[in-house]
Amino acid sequence: MITSHMYSSYEDCIKSADIFSAEIGRILKETYVIDFNHIHISVSIGVKLIDGSVTSSIEVIKEADIAMYEVKSAGRDGIVNFNTTLSAKIGNTLEMERKLYFALEHKEIELYYQPQVNKDGLIRGCEVLARWYNPDLGMVSPLEFIKIAEKTGIIIDLGNFILEEAFKTLNSWEKKEHALEQLSINVSVRQLLHDTFINRIEYLCNKYLNEKSQNKIVFEITETLLEEDLKKVISVMKKVKKLGISFSLDDFGTGYSSLNYLREIPIDELKIDRSFVSHLGENKSDEMMLKTIFTLADIFDLHIIAEGIETDAQFEILKTYNCHLFQGYYFDKPLKRDDFERKLFKQKVKKVNMEINKKKIINRKNIV
Ligand code: C2E
Ligand code: CA
Ligand code: CA
Repeated sequence: MITSHMYSSYEDCIKSADIFSAEIGRILKETYVIDFNHIHISVSIGVKLIDGSVTSSIEVIKEADIAMYEVKSAGRDGIVNFNTTLSAKIGNTLEMERKLYFALEHKEIELYYQPQVNKDGLIRGCEVLARWYNPDLGMVSPLEFIKIAEKTGIIIDLGNFILEEAFKTLNSWEKKEHALEQLSINVSVRQLLHDTFINRIEYLCNKYLNEKSQNKIVFEITETLLEEDLKKVISVMKKVKKLGISFSLDDFGTGYSSLNYLREIPIDELKIDRSFVSHLGENKSDEMMLKTIFTLADIFDLHIIAEGIETDAQFEILKTYNCHLFQGYYFDKPLKRDDFERKLFKQKVKKVNMEINKKKIINRKNIV
């Protein structure tokens, strides 16, 4: 802790704090050798200058702690000074947290559906994506609010709402005989590991789905799940799979999945991350990586879906691999439920017309 009273100017004080922190960082980062292993550590330092802006020691430590977490969230290993920008950011996050708390009650959460198509461009499934519209904040990205929901625990209620809406939607599509192969729902780590998760899924399956439609549900999980208690994760996954629901490893290729994980966790699908797809055709190493992913999927008998397809060229390259489904703006952006249904309906009508025409041609040939 450095007080600004010790320096002639605020800038001198900050400079001194930076030098002091860098020196602490340098010393802590020296390599440790334990049992002949070299251990490298990173150091995240948060700095709070005592400049009279706060009055209690608890406040000072809290703000230094906030600054330290800012370093961690930016990838660790660095120094951040608690300043007015950070203070405003905290204020905004708190405000967002408060508003998110009421979002369900105020019916501000809506589900969108992004088509997943097969090689012929026919819709075979969709991914459910949450949208939050708040009258003061406008449209808030799920990238932002899901993180807050996870941190605060709101994800449990929010996740339950998303699951129930998605199951209800599938139920209504099944009644209308929209023949989809799968409905993918994002499930966060905290949600999946919550004590109530399995009971909730069983309850929703009983209420909305039969065995055939349960087989269409896919839960998308990310590799962050693999940092948790793996035994517990696998046990939950196995119980969910008994209901016929399958699992997809989302954003595949961006994390640290080892081959061992792929063998241990009971996943059914790999979802190739957008970052690979976006450079296809430009970068040889990305294509090599893609080849490896498809070989892996073959070995472990996994389905593959590619996401983030934006161009015809990307679609064409992916089609040359054994990719089962394709998703991205090239086909459609996430759609409101009614718009998605309209697309499905049009596709059904087109298919029926094609079948009628085919029959007519066969009949004509038979007559001739
Ligand atoms: P994600 O699961 O990787 O979802 C894909 C994201 O990529 C979506 O963003 C989608 O709109 C976007 N996207 C799809 N195709 C393209 C494309 O061709 N180009 C580009 N540039 N983007 C594309 P979105 O809807 O903003 O969601 C962001 C993330 O928020 C999701 O990433 C997911 O991690 C999380 N999320 C969204 N909905 C839910 C939810 O219901 N539950 C949970 N736990 N997380 C969710
Ligand atoms: Ca996803
Ligand atoms: Ca993804």
